[in-house]
Amino acid sequence: MEVINISTISIQLLIIAIIVGLILIFIFATGKHGKIEAVKSSYVLGTIINLKAFGNKAEKAINEAIERLNNIDDKMSAFKEESDISKINSKAGFALEAISKDTYFVVKKAVEYSRILEGAFDPTIRPLVKLWNIGTNKGTIPEKVKIEEALKLVNYNDVILGESNHTIMLKDKDQALDVGGIAKGFAADEVRDIFYKHNIKSALIDLGGNIFALGGKEDGTPWRIGIQNPFEPRGEFIGVFNAKNKSVVTSGNYERYFMKDGEKFHHIIDPKTGYPSQSKIISATIISDNSIDGDGLSTGVYILGIDKSLKIIEAIEGIDAIFITEDKRVYTTLGIDKNIFTLTNEEFSLAKN
Ligand code: ADP
Ligand code: MG
Repeated sequence: MEVINISTISIQLLIIAIIVGLILIFIFATGKHGKIEAVKSSYVLGTIINLKAFGNKAEKAINEAIERLNNIDDKMSAFKEESDISKINSKAGFALEAISKDTYFVVKKAVEYSRILEGAFDPTIRPLVKLWNIGTNKGTIPEKVKIEEALKLVNYNDVILGESNHTIMLKDKDQALDVGGIAKGFAADEVRDIFYKHNIKSALIDLGGNIFALGGKEDGTPWRIGIQNPFEPRGEFIGVFNAKNKSVVTSGNYERYFMKDGEKFHHIIDPKTGYPSQSKIISATIISDNSIDGDGLSTGVYILGIDKSLKIIEAIEGIDAIFITEDKRVYTTLGIDKNIFTLTNEEFSLAKN
């Protein structure tokens, strides 16, 4: 029989007390679920990004994500000389450029969406984007002849893709790529994957309005994503979308634009006319499992207009949309019911479709 003396028992009790104490301190410090929250903002991909994650490795995951976002920016920016996109553009018309797997994937996806959207989306839009000076426009409308010249260069069929060693070449020397309409979607998916790798079960990835809701909120309820009121400054919503493991991406005319003689000139250019899109849609939100699909689609459907866009989105399995037209009507695809999306602003009304 084992002899237990008093001092062994008291040491054991002391150890147990210390362990219990440490657990209590941990719970107290990290919230009732024992999860650590990390939040960070940064400026990358030409926009302000906000990342919020819950989990023991949240901080590490967010730091790694920001590093990855900068890396994507370095590869895909049309403004950085050393980027894959700039290299393709400078060799347009004369040589194949071998680029990173990431950029190849994004350009290939962009061309796929150009086909699906009948050319309303087009990654060879750069000559027009440059002419309109998108991002830095001081409020000048380009000359008509210049627009006509640039228009001739826009054609996604001229992107020559070499699958085996990731090469890309544009047919004409004056052609140029711009993946600004899809790169943020790819980037959001990459952040999601980094978060998954670090066992994050709840996070909100916001890349300048290109949102991915990873899991639900910490308490398990869906993330509540506000759908921006296109007539008001950022932060005013027309309704709320409940999202769990979904990408919610909006293209609108309210972020980047200039006014001239009472007319609004925004940053989504119609590749058929060379001018900012004139369709009645002023906001297009795509809900999808992958953000690259949402980003690629939202820019193009914005241009195509309500009838065509509803048809195209309804035809794609697993993807839904919320469109706002200039007469304050809100159109939703069949997958969006009252439990997922609630219209909260009385000035707007749901259209029957
Ligand atoms: P944001 O970047 O404001 O979130 P979008 O995803 O809709 O919005 O992308 C707009 C950007 O896409 C423009 O700034 C421009 O670089 C590019 N772009 C503009 N028109 C087109 C188009 N028709 N097809 C492809 N890209 C476009
Ligand atoms: Mg887009």
